[in-house]
Amino acid sequence: MSEYRRDPVTDRWVIIAPDRAQRPREMTFDDEDRLESEYCPFCPGHESATPPSIVDFPKDSDHWDVRIVPNKYPAVRSDADDPGSPSPLFERRAGLGTHEVVVESPRHVVSLTDLEADQLERVVGSWRSRLAELAEDTRLEYALLFKNQGARAGATVEHAHSQLMALPMVPTFLEAELQGSRRYFDRHERCVFCDLAEHNLDSGDRLVYANDAVVAFAPFASRFPFELWVTPRGHAAEFQATGSTTNAAIADALGAVLDRLHQALDDPPYNMAVHTAPLRAGPLEHFHWHIEIIPALSNQAGFEWGSGWHINSTPPESAAAHLRKIATDTY
Ligand SMILES: [Zn+2]
Ligand SMILES: [Zn+2]
Ligand SMILES: [Zn+2]
Repeated sequence: MSEYRRDPVTDRWVIIAPDRAQRPREMTFDDEDRLESEYCPFCPGHESATPPSIVDFPKDSDHWDVRIVPNKYPAVRSDADDPGSPSPLFERRAGLGTHEVVVESPRHVVSLTDLEADQLERVVGSWRSRLAELAEDTRLEYALLFKNQGARAGATVEHAHSQLMALPMVPTFLEAELQGSRRYFDRHERCVFCDLAEHNLDSGDRLVYANDAVVAFAPFASRFPFELWVTPRGHAAEFQATGSTTNAAIADALGAVLDRLHQALDDPPYNMAVHTAPLRAGPLEHFHWHIEIIPALSNQAGFEWGSGWHINSTPPESAAAHLRKIATDTY
């Protein structure tokens, strides 16, 4: 059973989840090679290897294109008991939340870059649809959609999948982004992400890709080599609010940048996270959803752990220039 523990100095929450230690690894950390495993739990015909689906797409059909299932080894769960806090020094909360896996294709593909454009569009649609459903559970404050691509980036199953963790509190990074974007708005009466999107489209230095609705760029203060942000050109706080930006436009931009990264860095492991407004926050004027993509090219070392700052050896302008030069077949 898992629980949240709050660090009494920094107020940072940690999830203590001993059950996670039991999950098997299909992939090893030491090399990127998959351990020989005949049996993929995410392939069609093997549905009994996972807990029953929460939702399949298309709904009410005899086949699935995208499948969302509970994580078999969840870090948090919806039936968690409250452990109680023995003292203000040791604040604990029940490990409440949901931990789900989005199986991104019925084919045994290992990367989003292996998907056809219309399947990637279906994946984006399923992410947004499930986020909208989770927002109805008032015990939950935030839903973090993320992806670990490759063993070195933390994946334990090869078949292409992403994860969705809904949490009873807003995570630290989001809290910082909400506060920072609020400060920018108070000062300039503008959304900082709208300004970033516009600036990157105008100046082009750090621009990687743009279509009519979505822009992708290497952020000015990139923490990691080839860090990329993908964000709508028009203001939108909630990723799941489908009114403003179509699934097709998001899938197009995401596919384009992942394709370029794949070619530039020879299929790198990476992590991806969607930063969106807290659930039921309403139409925030200062915050704007975005997807952060971070190739897992270097490990955090002493300076990063010690300071919370990063030393990045690749200027984002060089990374963006390199990625812009790559023309891909599809995008
Ligand atoms: Zn498979
Ligand atoms: Zn905005
Ligand atoms: Zn962010």
